[in-house]
Amino acid sequence: MSNLIKCECCNADISDESKCCIHCGQPINNEELSFDYLYNGKRLLPIRYSDTLKKIQLLKETGNVEVFDKNYKVKNIICSAHNNTVDVILDDYEE
Ligand SMILES: [Zn+2]
Repeated sequence: MSNLIKCECCNADISDESKCCIHCGQPINNEELSFDYLYNGKRLLPIRYSDTLKKIQLLKETGNVEVFDKNYKVKNIICSAHNNTVDVILDDYEE
């Protein structure tokens, strides 16, 4: 029997047997995800880096991130189940 769990991305009820959220595409059981940092429509890092679902939680909790010694505010996090990628949309960090 499957249980209902909350999607970490959109908070909808989904089956814990799902591979991804049927509402927003957030991967549920995949440990490794590829992350992209996007600022003004441009990718900040030359290559994608891999991390786990916990990284999304951390980004949401802190609300900001440091890339190349510069601080950015996390504006949005977009998850795609199709290729296990997570786009982290960044904005200027306000002091
Ligand atoms: Zn979802």
